[in-house]
Amino acid sequence: MGFICAGNWKLNKGPKEANEFFEDFQAKAQGLLLSDFAIYPSAFSLYTVSQELREKGFNWGAQNIYWESSGAFTGENSVEILKEMGATQCLVGHSERRALFGETNEQTAQKMLALANQGITPVLCVGETLQERKSGQTNAVITSQLREALKGWNANNSFWLAYEPVWAIGTGEVATPQQAEEAHQVLRAELEKLLAEKSKKTPILYGGSVKPENAFELAKMPNVDGFLIGGASLKVDFFRQIYQQGTKAKQSS
Ligand code: PEP
Repeated sequence: MGFICAGNWKLNKGPKEANEFFEDFQAKAQGLLLSDFAIYPSAFSLYTVSQELREKGFNWGAQNIYWESSGAFTGENSVEILKEMGATQCLVGHSERRALFGETNEQTAQKMLALANQGITPVLCVGETLQERKSGQTNAVITSQLREALKGWNANNSFWLAYEPVWAIGTGEVATPQQAEEAHQVLRAELEKLLAEKSKKTPILYGGSVKPENAFELAKMPNVDGFLIGGASLKVDFFRQIYQQGTKAKQSS
């Protein structure tokens, strides 16, 4: 695996625009290792994306999931259905889910387990608010979000971790490379405590206003294994440029 670029489309792009994105991406994808990429479209565009990406090695999946497999849960989507569509991944605990929809640490743990049981890789998001950073709680918050989400976790299962400071998401304000590296080191140490040797296979992505202009410096940090990108993942050219900057930074360090 090279430098990871994962795109969270949030509530953007219906099936038509999703289709256009992948036509454009594929026309420009020569020389790119598709397994370094991931996309999380809105639920209604997942079917279109499944048709574009099935068997291509490109990772894709939902932005949220429910842990029950079926039943009277109006409005929810299950891991089983996601799997049937051919998805390989799913976001868990994105800060917008936590802040706007009340997602709790307990729920993140339930979602992690439901996904792992079906062989879908969770992409767990953790991050502190500005207030938490200002009051010196960053490390305590992110390690506790990680520990809580991994309750009952079997270390043989795989997941990706994304450090996303809430104050940097969609704000244009990006963490400095040093801030990102420090948080990633803290998370790496916590992963080692929790999962021992097996922790090494978990990549840690940085997310929060990543753009082509700031990607190189962030990607130079030794513990930044990739990015989770919101706004800039909506444009093929930005997404590709970020990947190129990330790959170049890793090759030069
Ligand atoms: C995100 O939604 O996970 C994200 C990092 O968004 P943005 O890149 O727009 O800050």
